[in-house]
Amino acid sequence: MREGLLEIFQDTYRDLRPVAAIPELKIEFFAFANVNNTIRLRNGRLLVRLSDLLEGAPDGVLRAIAHILLAKMYRQPIDRGQAARYRKYVASHEIVRKTHLVRQIRGRKRLRPAHGHYYDLDTIFEQVNTKFFHGLMARPRMSWSQSKSRRILGHYDPAHNAIIISRIFDHPAMPAYVLEYIVYHEMLHLKHPVRLRGSRRCVHSEEFQAEEKLFPYMADANAFLKRL
Ligand SMILES: [Zn+2]
Repeated sequence: MREGLLEIFQDTYRDLRPVAAIPELKIEFFAFANVNNTIRLRNGRLLVRLSDLLEGAPDGVLRAIAHILLAKMYRQPIDRGQAARYRKYVASHEIVRKTHLVRQIRGRKRLRPAHGHYYDLDTIFEQVNTKFFHGLMARPRMSWSQSKSRRILGHYDPAHNAIIISRIFDHPAMPAYVLEYIVYHEMLHLKHPVRLRGSRRCVHSEEFQAEEKLFPYMADANAFLKRL
């Protein structure tokens, strides 16, 4: 782990929660295809995953992302200065170049545009992002599938950092919450990368399933999908 990183998170924790004991912290850099950062509390331990694109970031930027993640975790207001510092770095030339490079290495794929006849997937993504992820998910390429597949309703393609949604949902009779549910599910794949557990790929981990249940209309959406 990068030197000083743990201290940055501990200092930030103390600023936000002066009285509470600092939990054990595990921080790792993770090869997200985009600039994603996640935090979760598990058995009293804070697990932080930072995009490997932030590995070379200056301390000030790491302090900013520590503040954003911990404030989010403990439902405290995010300082605007810190948010601006983080965004500025992410948007900076260096990060743009690196992100672009990573995408180039991982290859390109012909994808259809995000806007359909009735629904725009970029808009749906941002709505779900605001409602469920504090706006912290970096948007991958959003694309409608070529065909109106009933078999594959959606999938996240990590190699191209793209979410592809079946065109069957781009229809005026389709309730927005059903499409939001499909996009939410695929965003959880983005957030919980597939891990190897033994020899078997664990696609919908326990954490994944627990988080999916936070979608308020999950039962209604599934009932609707059964009738498709
Ligand atoms: Zn899935």
